[in-house]
Amino acid sequence: MVAVTYELIKTCKQTGARLGRVHTPHGSFDTPVFMPVGTLATVKTMSPEELEEIGANIILSNTYHLWLRPGQDIIKEAGGLHKFMNWKHSILTDSGGFQVFSLTDLRKIEERGVHFRSHISGEKLFLSPEKSMEIQNALGSDIMMAFDECPPYPADYKYMKNSVERTSRWAERCLSAHKRPDDQGLFGIIQGGEYEDLRKQSAKDLSSLDFPGYAIGGLSVGEPKEVMNHILEYTTPLLDTGKPRYLMGVGSPDSLIDGVIRGIDMFDCVLPTRIARNGTCMTSSGRLVVRNAKFARDFSPLDPNCDCHTCRNYSRAYLRHLIKADEILGLRLCSYHNLYFLLNLMEQVREAIKADRLGDFREEFFENYGFNKPNAKNF
Ligand SMILES: [Zn+2]
Repeated sequence: MVAVTYELIKTCKQTGARLGRVHTPHGSFDTPVFMPVGTLATVKTMSPEELEEIGANIILSNTYHLWLRPGQDIIKEAGGLHKFMNWKHSILTDSGGFQVFSLTDLRKIEERGVHFRSHISGEKLFLSPEKSMEIQNALGSDIMMAFDECPPYPADYKYMKNSVERTSRWAERCLSAHKRPDDQGLFGIIQGGEYEDLRKQSAKDLSSLDFPGYAIGGLSVGEPKEVMNHILEYTTPLLDTGKPRYLMGVGSPDSLIDGVIRGIDMFDCVLPTRIARNGTCMTSSGRLVVRNAKFARDFSPLDPNCDCHTCRNYSRAYLRHLIKADEILGLRLCSYHNLYFLLNLMEQVREAIKADRLGDFREEFFENYGFNKPNAKNF
């Protein structure tokens, strides 16, 4: 039995974007999908009930963080991550690799794995393909990610080639170490930076291992958006059309739409919740910094075109006051709106694919959002 399967429902005649559905042991979700990030077994400020209310069917959690706190043994003892955090729908866990490469000091990479120090205690730790599988098997996520090397951006060709080859060897080791293939699907990660032949090699190596899904890694790490879009253009056609494609770490509205147009099905990012805690919101007419003084007496909703709980009940002036006063409710209401905004955007994207008009939708959305203006402010 394969734990995770993908059903391609249709492709948009105007753009080639894919409408589909992913089935996991904890239910199904429609794609393209945006996955809220619950780093420490919680999507910051949101209860699982609120996530259900806004229509989230899958969330992401971070292996590295849960390994350090509270530790996979406690989560296993609780009956797995779903039970521990009371989330009944699908969960994807990353491999821990990205955090090890971005958060920790004194890394030493060797063929066996990576030595590093905990960003919390300074304790010496070691993460390898086998260890990452052991932790993710204990967490019991529906979708696990292979442990890959995350090279810095930019990296020279020789470094990247070695790294891609190592990532392929590590992917094989992940497959052998994965103990629960019947109830957890393991996705491979395509690396290769901005080198087309290395992306090709990575896609070929990993496709031969027949993972139930593939992520495109090493993007959204500081490269210009045009570079990311170009890499996606030549990478997604290398992947099996019968399996989901996941673009890691992308969550700005323009990049979501442009990723879908290039054949991506799944996305995740901390962006909507992180900026919300700062009082920055995504709205249908662009980015809105609700803490700005000009909203002190603005009693209109955050986004007049949004029908979320926050926009139906609270004003910009009130949200500004809460954020300025560091009140927890302000963080909650802004996080709620931003996540709702992105989930709703993805629903509109799916409708547009259904109607073969995603290209038109993109134009309208970019125009209203202000992305077409010179010097448009993004995130
Ligand atoms: Zn709203």
